[in-house]
Amino acid sequence: MENLYDLIILGAGPAGLSAGLYGARGMMKTLVIEKNMLVGGQISTTSEIENYPGGMISESGTELTMRMKDQAINFGCEFKTDTIVDIDLDSKIKVLTNELGIEYKAKSIILATGATPRSTGAPGEKEYTGRGVSYCATCDAFFIKNLEVFVIGGGDTAVEEAIFLTKFAKKVNVVHRRDQLRAAKSIQEKAFKNKKINFIWNTVVDEMKGDPIKGLESIVLKNKITGKVIEYNGGNEPIGIFVLVGNIPNTELFKNKLLVNSGGFLIADEKTLNVKLSSTGNNLEGVYVAGDCREKLLYQVITATADGAIAAIASEKYVEKVYN
Ligand code: NAP
Repeated sequence: MENLYDLIILGAGPAGLSAGLYGARGMMKTLVIEKNMLVGGQISTTSEIENYPGGMISESGTELTMRMKDQAINFGCEFKTDTIVDIDLDSKIKVLTNELGIEYKAKSIILATGATPRSTGAPGEKEYTGRGVSYCATCDAFFIKNLEVFVIGGGDTAVEEAIFLTKFAKKVNVVHRRDQLRAAKSIQEKAFKNKKINFIWNTVVDEMKGDPIKGLESIVLKNKITGKVIEYNGGNEPIGIFVLVGNIPNTELFKNKLLVNSGGFLIADEKTLNVKLSSTGNNLEGVYVAGDCREKLLYQVITATADGAIAAIASEKYVEKVYN
């Protein structure tokens, strides 16, 4: 069959890139399809990766994942920028279709579609996204030089990026809905020592307000315990808001067919990373998942790359068994 791949990987974050490396190095005809021009997924919005073993000091997510891509290409992995809108996982040969109806065919598939930043749902957030409201500190830190900013969230991302933003901002307020952070203790310690960071506890965002022409102007916060509502603006200066409240898995395309948890994360066989059918709970042969779109304990570059390696090797064994 013309242009039949042994393995197609959907998504080029660390999980997909690692799967591409292991697949191609395992002599499989391997293609990675990514909808964005740049590889890296969400990690490309991280300014510095401190905890990837062997990673270079001060290396950004983009730099790390570009090296991963080059490494996969060296072993013959192919890359394509395209948006897949339909996947047929029922047949022995899996078919992925793009917006123009063009099909990609493979003997096995790895779903490495990652996750997308969650919104707070507060009025004004959508309206002022890109006009004062951001989901990426690395991308937008430059715009808040010497301004006051509000980071929403209490997880690793929010607290790490709050620390990063202190290099640019006049003051960084971390707004968290509870009185304890979810972030790792080591990250918390750094943040508590940072004099530019102010914590606003037990508080949620009520509204993000602004002007249709000027963009974001103020943030309205509500204390969940006292019910007190306070509106902050930057006086004569603009403010910035960074919404960093976790992720939603990119599993829309297949979540009706495949087994997912209540958050929409794919549930996999822990040994092979085979996905499971929602109808029976049985493994779906030839289809695997890797990275942040699956349910697991730890969402890190190291676990994403490990997933990619395991899924690629499982896929290689499947193709060998079924086709040779
Ligand atoms: P997360 O761990 O899910 O944390 C989300 C944070 O946002 C929580 O503090 C949560 O509050 C809060 N939140 C959720 N929905 C909210 C809403 N509607 N309004 C206000 N606050 C809301 O997400 P994450 O920090 O992006 O991290 C995702 C994964 O990546 C985690 O597994 C994390 O460990 C990992 N990660 C690791 C590193 C690192 O190790 N260096 C860096 C970044 C991310 P509650 O705490 O009350 O639930």
